[in-house]
Amino acid sequence: MRNRRALACVAGAFISGLGFAQPLAQPNQALIIRAARVLDVRSGVYINGAAVYVVGERVKAVGTAADVIRGAPTATMVIDLGDATLLPGLIDCHTHLMARTADDPNGYALNLLTKSQAYRALEGAANARVTIEAGFTTVRDVESEGSMYADVALRDAINAGLVEGPRMRVATRGIAALGQYYPFGISPDLTDFPTGAQMVSGPEEARRAVREQIGHGADLIKVYADWRYPTLTIAEMQVIVEEAHKAKRKVAAHATTPEGIRNAVLAGVDSIEHGHGADRADLELMKSRGVYLVPTLSGIDASVAKSPNNWTSAKAQAFLETMRQSVVMAKALGVKIADGSDPASAAGHGRNAKELEAMTRRGLTPLEAVRAATSSAADLMDWSDDIGAVEAGKYADLIAVQGDPIADITILQHVKFVMKGGRVVKNELAH
Ligand SMILES: [Zn+2]
Repeated sequence: MRNRRALACVAGAFISGLGFAQPLAQPNQALIIRAARVLDVRSGVYINGAAVYVVGERVKAVGTAADVIRGAPTATMVIDLGDATLLPGLIDCHTHLMARTADDPNGYALNLLTKSQAYRALEGAANARVTIEAGFTTVRDVESEGSMYADVALRDAINAGLVEGPRMRVATRGIAALGQYYPFGISPDLTDFPTGAQMVSGPEEARRAVREQIGHGADLIKVYADWRYPTLTIAEMQVIVEEAHKAKRKVAAHATTPEGIRNAVLAGVDSIEHGHGADRADLELMKSRGVYLVPTLSGIDASVAKSPNNWTSAKAQAFLETMRQSVVMAKALGVKIADGSDPASAAGHGRNAKELEAMTRRGLTPLEAVRAATSSAADLMDWSDDIGAVEAGKYADLIAVQGDPIADITILQHVKFVMKGGRVVKNELAH
């Protein structure tokens, strides 16, 4: 054991030192990670005195250190994280890595007006790096906000090891009803002014948009079922769902109004994004159809914390209470919930774990919040074979924190160690 510990110091420095020069895990490199405990997210139980045996990109075994080490005679190094808690890499199901929008009423239009697509892509790379350093090893990126297919490029560049970032599933442009999404208020004379989502009117335009987006690399389709009022029709969304499902892609629907949510669910979408105004009938319908809720609460919390005076009106207070109730009711009815923080600014990226805290403030237990960001998120993404738990056969996507996140969920806002696919991305625990 002494030899292995001595090796660990060297190994830790070696791996983090290499970083970008050698971003992909060595094929069949075998290593052991030790930590005081590892969380089994399914049972909610800690394995104490734990170790994880990693070969190449994947976990080979997890258990008590004695058992794992005995079964891993070929491991060439040990990373000893000391008194740390290991968890699966976290998953954010609602990001906008391509958006780094200024805190300005015209921020969205300014992005479109002043930034080249090349610059937007580089912003995306910066956002991707802070996201994985925050412990989020996978994201479901739900719309590129006017940067066209740059999210496909970023996903592929990360996979090729050119830039640092989480595993990405991307929605590309998103689909909205003509004139019913950003940017608003542009002169009608500027007929070629770029838009956020791809604007459609009528089922055939909707069908064409899905085919185009899948052709250009979309892993899922994002639709805007409403924008303060219902926008796309059920018929338009049905066509979108039909085309997407045919190609084995899921459909995520932005919807905040009771009617918009109902329309989207009746059209057959797979998840409701935000759902802040969901009523009981909506949630019962979602439950009966197995539709996920991705409640995106932390952005609202940040806004309230930043400008509390903007949220004192009866209308604002009613909105906050309805939003809280939607999550409380969803949990009570057994609606499936996945984590999504909706970051789209420099301040938002990398603070993804605030969403877990926000969910616990609406009645989820810390363990339920962790599941929303691991096993449930993987299920929503149809990716449970590879991610969402620390288990033999899955990718070695691991994070470590100091302390007990099941006792204090905010600990996940201070991730000290990140491994993605068997490669150390960050290690502040090396000793
Ligand atoms: Zn969003």
